Amino acid sequence: MVSEIVYLNGKFVPYEEALVPVEDRGNLFADGVYEVIRFYSGQPFLMKAHMERLERSAREIRLPEIDIDALTEAGLETVRRNGIGDGTLYIQVTRGPAPRNHAFPPNPRPTVFMIARSFARPGEELRGQGVSCITVPDIRWLRCDIKSIGLLPNVLGKQQAKEAGAFEALFVRDGVVTEGTSTNAFAVREGRIVTYPEDEHILPGITRRLILAIARREGIEIVEEALKVGELDRVDELFISSTTIEVLPVVSVDGRPVGGGKPGPIARKLQEQYDRLVEKVASGESIDDFI
Ligand code: PMP
Repeated sequence: MVSEIVYLNGKFVPYEEALVPVEDRGNLFADGVYEVIRFYSGQPFLMKAHMERLERSAREIRLPEIDIDALTEAGLETVRRNGIGDGTLYIQVTRGPAPRNHAFPPNPRPTVFMIARSFARPGEELRGQGVSCITVPDIRWLRCDIKSIGLLPNVLGKQQAKEAGAFEALFVRDGVVTEGTSTNAFAVREGRIVTYPEDEHILPGITRRLILAIARREGIEIVEEALKVGELDRVDELFISSTTIEVLPVVSVDGRPVGGGKPGPIARKLQEQYDRLVEKVASGESIDDFI
């Protein structure tokens, strides 16, 4: 098998040669940020929005300024060099190597790493039948809006879901659902989409933004407010979203059926519109202006 080519600090190198010093601050302190960008038929899906979010995350943790245009080009090249059709591009920027000391090093040299992998779209069984979730306490910090590589609560939550035979764990803070460990969450109540507002308790998902843009065009009312965990068994629909899973209906939470235990019409409509946008992108059209 031909080795994967990854991008590391300005160079395209075989995977085995992409080595980072043990004292990289990403390794020591999770002192870094990341992005995951979707590609369909080798074409980027909402890459501009992802790169803008990366720029913001980097600024919020006070990383040295990054050249987003150059990074975008390098990302596209990473995908091309690996012949990725449907897949993802992972980009990580850390504050780089320095002797271990909590305060920033005087002259940080960020480590920039990118890898492109094939990743299939969710199958019709997941999309059509929906998935189950569990709830877990939201033990994360109060800057969940930063796409930090510090993901231990998310890792533990996802593992708990896996061990319970569930697809995702939904975080609950102060009695309300914030988001999933790697997804945003939405309910439908009396025909309106209800989702946690964009603040420091959730990641402002690019897919979330796309879903809300689709909903607006479809004339579906949106309410950005917290959903009480006690209301979950009374909602008409529940669904989750992310760059990799797109839109998936949730049919049970903590073993109890949600929305009658079946995917609902609004999730289905969003999936249909999402598919259209995927087709557009796959045929080389940009949908950057859609959101
Ligand atoms: N919330 C969290 C905590 C996530 O990790 C992700 C996926 N990166 C999302 C939401 C969804 O974000 P996006 O739609 O930009 O992939």
